[in-house]
Amino acid sequence: MTQSYDLVVTNARVVTPDGVTSGGLAVSGERISAILADGEQPAAKETIDAGGRYLLPGGIDPHVHFRTPGLTHKEDWAHGSRAAAAGGVTTVIDMPNTQPPLIEPELAAEKASTVSGDSLVDFRFHMGVTVDSVENLRRLQPRQATSVKVFMTGHHTAPNIIRDPVVLDRIFQVAAERGIRLVLHAEDDSVFSLLDETQAPPTGYDAYESAHPRTGGIVASSRVIELVRKHGTAAHILHVSSSEESDLLKAAAKAGLPVTYEVTAHHLSFSAPDTQRLGARIRLRPAIRCEKDKGRLWDAVMEGSVASLGSDHAPHTVEEKLLAVADAPPGLPGVQELIIALYTGMRRRYPGMSTDEAMRHVARLTAEGPADLFGLGGRKGRIAVGLDADFTLFDPDVTWIMAAKHTYAKVGWSAYEGWTFTGRPDVTVRRGETIWDGRDPEQPRFGTASGIWLDAEPAVPGGFTAQRETSA
Ligand SMILES: [Zn+2]
Repeated sequence: MTQSYDLVVTNARVVTPDGVTSGGLAVSGERISAILADGEQPAAKETIDAGGRYLLPGGIDPHVHFRTPGLTHKEDWAHGSRAAAAGGVTTVIDMPNTQPPLIEPELAAEKASTVSGDSLVDFRFHMGVTVDSVENLRRLQPRQATSVKVFMTGHHTAPNIIRDPVVLDRIFQVAAERGIRLVLHAEDDSVFSLLDETQAPPTGYDAYESAHPRTGGIVASSRVIELVRKHGTAAHILHVSSSEESDLLKAAAKAGLPVTYEVTAHHLSFSAPDTQRLGARIRLRPAIRCEKDKGRLWDAVMEGSVASLGSDHAPHTVEEKLLAVADAPPGLPGVQELIIALYTGMRRRYPGMSTDEAMRHVARLTAEGPADLFGLGGRKGRIAVGLDADFTLFDPDVTWIMAAKHTYAKVGWSAYEGWTFTGRPDVTVRRGETIWDGRDPEQPRFGTASGIWLDAEPAVPGGFTAQRETSA
């Protein structure tokens, strides 16, 4: 009897944890049921000839702001998840700084039902915390979230800042007790307040970086490291922007502390002169820094010090971005550009690197890393038999110029407009279903918005056990 699969992909360069091989894969239902050798083509209801493209594990973007509820004029799940699919991302973890913010664990289920039916990609949430909601973390369940976002500084769309060192200490303590991974915007608000007392707010983008200097990040990272040393909390610092922070965090990890960090595609793509040129589009927190910092972040990414890449997809409308410098909100759309910008940057910076090697780095940074950090490795993040059939077929050779018409984010603009990109995800499959097919650029097609709210293992090994014991 001949076994028939639901979907077979042939003629691909398959990027597995062990390396890159020529062949394909077979899908039964939602899962990968076989990795195929070169030339093998079993019967299937649907067959995709990858045409030599790379078959990458579906991206997991652990840092998106899809703005639901309350800020849906900036972004929503229908648009954000399309941008994700077109960028080769099949899972996102959404940030809690919505209106209202997600700070009640019980409201995670409500948020999931709001999102359900709108999302092409699978999803999880980071829980939020305010000065008044720290005790909520004691009843947080892994189903709701295994990670909690802490803003040590804030801005227009992030008003709930933890400034009080006593409260911050308490959060680290509770998180350590519960096995919660903290994800942090680690810039020190008191540093910025102090500087603001003696300097006028920036009126143009020439001095934007110096108005939001690296000092804030260095001070906050040092505080995080001390709190991790004191409590043993697992802490993941988001969007690290300077060489000093990167070096500090690397040293902390080397000293055995459970500290990891994220770098964004935009901090790898832009440097301070770009802020002068592009202005509000790359008005960001943390600010885009110098060429030297960008180089050091690339080093950290390639050598394996950086645990995962994130897009920090945080769109604002053109009208909002055109406000005076002090009022223009920081953030950019980025989930669609994440993998493409990473790959393009790698090609330019390391011209001698083989495509196979570049693709292994992409898989490590955008799929394996975030899956392992956030308890998703049991079903996502790798091309392996038994895991969800989440993958993208990536053309590594195509060069194309990014234009506003290519963007699927609701705001309709990209900081990368005018960039010549190398590489593009042409087909994206999530749990066996094609959710993006851009092989014909004139007629790109999306699948159905049948993304699900994922369950996850505790993000910290052994996490949440104390709760289980006391409730047993
Ligand atoms: Zn963010």
